[in-house]
Amino acid sequence: MDGVGRRRWLEGLGTLFATGRISATSITAPLVAPERPKKPLQLRDFEPRSMLHLPEKKVSRSRYPVIDIHTHLSVTANSANGVGIGEAMEYLAPVEALLPRMDRKNIRMMVNLTGGVGKGLDEAIRKFQQPYPERFLTFTEPWWERTNRPSYSQFQADEIVRAHQAGARGLKILKTLGLYLREGISQGPLVRIDDPRFDAMWETCGSLGMPVAIHVSDPEAFFLPVDRFNERFEELNNHPDWSFYGRDFPSNAELLEARNRVLGRHPKTQFIVLHVGNDAENLPYVSECMERFPNMHVELGARIGELGRQPRMARKFFEKYQDRILFGTDAVPNGTDTPQQVFSDELYEIYYRFLETDDEYFDYAPARVPPQGRWRIYGLGLPDGILKKIYHENAGRLLHVQV
Ligand SMILES: [Zn+2]
Repeated sequence: MDGVGRRRWLEGLGTLFATGRISATSITAPLVAPERPKKPLQLRDFEPRSMLHLPEKKVSRSRYPVIDIHTHLSVTANSANGVGIGEAMEYLAPVEALLPRMDRKNIRMMVNLTGGVGKGLDEAIRKFQQPYPERFLTFTEPWWERTNRPSYSQFQADEIVRAHQAGARGLKILKTLGLYLREGISQGPLVRIDDPRFDAMWETCGSLGMPVAIHVSDPEAFFLPVDRFNERFEELNNHPDWSFYGRDFPSNAELLEARNRVLGRHPKTQFIVLHVGNDAENLPYVSECMERFPNMHVELGARIGELGRQPRMARKFFEKYQDRILFGTDAVPNGTDTPQQVFSDELYEIYYRFLETDDEYFDYAPARVPPQGRWRIYGLGLPDGILKKIYHENAGRLLHVQV
C-alpha cells in the first residue's frame, strides 16, 4: 500500500467510526500495517542505496604525477593527553610496502609530515627519504615537551636548523597547538597558537625555505553540541574524543584568528594550511584569508567530502586559487577507524575522480556509510592546467623539487 492509498484507507475507517457502523475492537487486526518492521531501524544500520542511474568514470591513475603533501608514515611513539613526548618513533609501514601502490596510482612522492624530532627524525629520514630521495620527503615537528622551559624559543629555532641539516624539508604543526598543549605540557591553561615563544621557530623556517604544514582547529561541527542537530553526529558518536565542545576549548573562530595572526606576523614563511585552511565548510572565509595572506596555501586532505558537496563554490575556489592549492590525502598506511584516510587504491581513485571528472553523487570515502556525514559528492572536472598545478607543480615549488 502506498502512502496515498494508506491515507485514504485510514480516512475511510474514520468515516466508519463516525457513523457508528463499526466498533473499534473489530478493526484492531487490520490496523496493524503488515509491512511495518518489528523494531525501529537504527541509524547505524541504515545504508540507503542510491537509485540514480548515472555514468561512473573510474580513474585508476591521476592524469599527472602526484605529490601527496600530507601523509603520516611515522608517528611519535609516546604522548600525554594528546601531546607527543620524546624522540622514539613508531612506523606505520615499511617503505617497500608503499612503493607498488605509489607506482600503480601515479604517486611520485609522499611527504611524511610527522617525522618527529631529534634521533627519531634522523631515523625516520633514514627509513624513507634516504633510500628513496625521489619518492619520500620528511617534515620535522616542534619539541612540545620543552615548550615550558625558559630557553625554549632559541632551542627550538636551533633545532629547526639542525633538522634542516639532517634532511627535513618542512615543519608540521599538529592540532596539538591550540587544542592539547598546555602550560604544564599536559595540564594547566592551553598554550595559544600565536604565543610569541614560537616566533623564532616560524621565522627560522622562513629563512631556510622550509614550508610549515599547519593543522589548526577542526570541522565546525566538532565545536558544537553532539546532538540531533549536529551534521557529524555519527562521527562524533563514534569518536567522542574528537569533540571540542565546552570545557576550556577556544571556539573554532578564535583558533583560526590566532593562526591568522601567525601568518600575518611571518610573511616570509610559507604556510600550507592543511584540510582546506581548516574551514572547508566556509570557503568564503578561507578565500578571505587567502586574500589577506599571500603566504597561505591550502591542502585537500580528508576534506573532499566538504568540497564535493558544494561543487560550484569549490570549483570557483579552485579556479581562483589554482596556484596555492596542494594535493594531499592525510593518508595513513593502515587502520579501519577513518576510511577517508586509509592509504588504499580506492582512496586515491576517489580523489582523482573528484578532481578530474564531472561524475555526480558518489562516495567521498571507501566505506559502508559515509564516515564524515551522510552525504555524497560531485566531481569538479578541472581542466588540465589546474590539475597539473594541484597534483604536483604547486607542491614542487614549495618543496624545491622537480617532478
Ligand atoms: Zn594529518
